[in-house]
Amino acid sequence: MDTYRHKGLRKKLVELLKEKGITDEQVLEAINSIPRHLFLDNAFVNFAYQDKAFPIGAGQTISQPFTVAFQTQLLELERGDKVLEIGTGSAYQTCVLLEMKAKVFSIERQKLLFQRAKVLLPKMGYSAKLFFGDGYKGQPAFAPFDKIIITAGAPFIPEDLKKQLKVGGIMVIPVGEGESQVMQRLRKIGETEFEYEEFGDFKFVPLLQDKSFSN
Ligand code: SAH
Repeated sequence: MDTYRHKGLRKKLVELLKEKGITDEQVLEAINSIPRHLFLDNAFVNFAYQDKAFPIGAGQTISQPFTVAFQTQLLELERGDKVLEIGTGSAYQTCVLLEMKAKVFSIERQKLLFQRAKVLLPKMGYSAKLFFGDGYKGQPAFAPFDKIIITAGAPFIPEDLKKQLKVGGIMVIPVGEGESQVMQRLRKIGETEFEYEEFGDFKFVPLLQDKSFSN
């Protein structure tokens, strides 16, 4: 259930995100309209509108609202963009993309989280293509994508994902294996040509590789 109290807390969160430098009105509008508390375990409902990451089960976390807003802003979304998301997790980021009228294809390697998202999204009135699988491989059957967003810390930029990006497209990916990752934005300017930009340090759970794949 979404109450006036939740709506009030959300407004405050949006104000905080503005103060922290989020300027994309559509991103702010999406965050203002999505009941983030419905993506958290009941025990954390009272924390849903703090600007913090929280556990969502299977050893994973829902990204901090600022991080979600920042990554989404970097994507320069346009209505109808075909977006590939790696790391569905709680599906909160997925909903932000959907709220901004993107067509979303999202991959998650934890079965529990994949199954939860499959139930939650339609219940909230959203529709996305969800996949249980390895994000390093992307979704070649549905490529190319206008935008690709990776919501886990990647040790390197996966080649398959670069291939599945449209020329003219944008990929946003936190890169690094240590404690923190550097937010990178790639613009694909030719079949094998990319422009890179960096946007500071963030903390993500790791993008796990195939060999550690488990249900
Ligand atoms: N966007 C999510 C972030 C969840 S954290 C949210 O806001 O809730 C990152 C997610 O990436 C985790 O759910 C984790 O299980 C998933 N993940 C890690 N490695 C992956 C891989 N190789 N392929 C797909 N998903 C992966």
